[in-house]
Amino acid sequence: MKPAPFEYHAPETVEDACGLLAEYGDEAKVLAGGQSLVPMLALRLTRFEHLVDVNRVGELGGFARENGTLVVQAATRQRVMEREALVAAAAPLLARATPLIGHFQIRNRGTVGGSLAHADPASEYPAVAVALGAELELARRGGARRRVAADDFFVGTWTTTAEPDELLVAARFPVWPERSGFAIEEVARRHGDFALAGVACAVSAGRAGIALFGVGSTPIRARAAEEAWVAGAAPDEVAEAAVRELDPPTDVHATASTRVRIARHLVERAVVRAQEELRAAG
Ligand SMILES: Cc1cc2nc3c(=O)[nH]c(=O)nc-3n(C[C@H](O)[C@H](O)[C@H](O)COP(=O)(O)OP(=O)(O)OC[C@H]3O[C@@H](n4cnc5c(N)ncnc54)[C@H](O)[C@@H]3O)c2cc1C
Repeated sequence: MKPAPFEYHAPETVEDACGLLAEYGDEAKVLAGGQSLVPMLALRLTRFEHLVDVNRVGELGGFARENGTLVVQAATRQRVMEREALVAAAAPLLARATPLIGHFQIRNRGTVGGSLAHADPASEYPAVAVALGAELELARRGGARRRVAADDFFVGTWTTTAEPDELLVAARFPVWPERSGFAIEEVARRHGDFALAGVACAVSAGRAGIALFGVGSTPIRARAAEEAWVAGAAPDEVAEAAVRELDPPTDVHATASTRVRIARHLVERAVVRAQEELRAAG
């Protein structure tokens, strides 16, 4: 099937892109890597009168470490997160999550901001953003910008708090202390598939971040489990706390109870791995 007709726009600045979004409102959609949007258009699961292609907006590419934060511009390709030593040093969880996304062809086109803005509940990056305490930076026509904590950004399947006239311009990942441990674990039916269940976690002295994915309509921050972990609970207790309130969907891929069992096992394994890494860091 082919997409319904649309008008194509290729702005070269953030301001021009925001201007188009403001002009066309919910009739417009941003096109980044196209790895999620294009299949949805082609299958006619959705249609928009205007596509605003941000691939020529130079300001939206690249990343930098600034005052304890790794700032990744929204249209930076996912493959960059996989390959750059600076990313692996500043946000190891982001680097380790990337090879789990689809296949390399998808990561060659797919963008960091596209994955976050798309907000698929089984996606790795939204969970990484929540576990690390990242902020998302949004821009509007006229230069207005606001930052939203990842915790508050994801509100439902494919739904975020971004307004139709807002462009996601950057994701800001805090650089965790040198002495930290990180782990991401997931189960998918085949290599490259979206996860049936997964968890991203981080730990340092007195602080932990745990976010589950594939087990609800958003990435799910496991606050009780984080507190238990910081208080010195054993990995199986942390895992139990992480899944206690889960209410995952049953679908053709797995039942709710299977997802909970998988998630419990993955959290325990991730906590053990992150803890070992923390210990090895001295
Ligand atoms: C076969 C296959 C397997 C996949 N497996 C996985 C997987 O395992 N894990 C995973 O996480 N993903 C997976 N994906 C999705 C992939 O990671 C996409 O790259 C990602 O979800 C969307 O990024 P994109 O840059 O391609 O965005 P697009 O497809 O261009 O856009 C996606 C959505 O985000 C919006 N958007 C994009 N950029 C912005 C912005 N800057 N501001 C505001 N809105 C924006 C678009 O309007 C659209 O609604 C898979 C895709 C395929 C085709």
